[in-house]
Amino acid sequence: MIGASKLLALLRPQGRNCLLCGQTFQVGGGRRAPIPIRNPAARKVLDEGFCAGCISRIPWIVTIACPICGRPERCGDCLRRRERPFVKCRGAVRYDDAMKEWLALYKYRGLERLEAAFAAMLAAAVEPLLGETRFDVVTSVPIAPLRLADRGFDQAERVARGMAVLYRLPYRPMLRRIRHTGKQSFKGRKDRIEDMKGTFAALSPPLALGHVSEALFSPTDPVRIMLVDDIYTTGATMTECSRALLAAYPNAEVYGALWARS
Ligand SMILES: [Zn+2]
Ligand SMILES: [Zn+2]
Repeated sequence: MIGASKLLALLRPQGRNCLLCGQTFQVGGGRRAPIPIRNPAARKVLDEGFCAGCISRIPWIVTIACPICGRPERCGDCLRRRERPFVKCRGAVRYDDAMKEWLALYKYRGLERLEAAFAAMLAAAVEPLLGETRFDVVTSVPIAPLRLADRGFDQAERVARGMAVLYRLPYRPMLRRIRHTGKQSFKGRKDRIEDMKGTFAALSPPLALGHVSEALFSPTDPVRIMLVDDIYTTGATMTECSRALLAAYPNAEVYGALWARS
């Protein structure tokens, strides 16, 4: 028999602590900012994870101005680019100060409880892509080995894996770093692009993609790869990773799904 107090507790709206600010809030209570995601599991993670204040700080990218990189502003970079090995990229949020802070909490302060929320947020970049095409496999930009040793986890891989579960897509590691690059955030656009050249290669042997996703894979269609990373700044990383994937899978089309677009 369930006791009266326990029953009352079950009937009461559930109180949660916000993953970010720690404040207690009622799930389903009060006015909350809309979430531009359809996947019910992803919505649930966000609805139950963040208080109304924190959720309202997410700068979702809902309208894009550049169909190539998914930037919400007009974009000269994509027009200037001579070669583009990826088909297109979509970003979930703008990389503003709030998002910088959130990412830093996860990456550098090890706030692992944010991981599921990041995977859920990534859905806002994934759903527009899934609306246009089907994917055979999800992969991610690999972290530098030195940084992996420091941090202990590869955030892009973890977030990509979480997202892949939400959409029942197969995740496979497909890339490795073959060259060390210095810290990119201090460099200008041109230097970053130069610096990233030849950084990545596909893992060998290449995946037999027909076995990864037999249900989706068609030997006559191009292999469609969703490549996940946390931030798109100049597109240099996406470009180099796509180039490495195409070298190993000439029949592939690479699409980028980014957590944030800076
Ligand atoms: Zn909060
Ligand atoms: Zn662009």
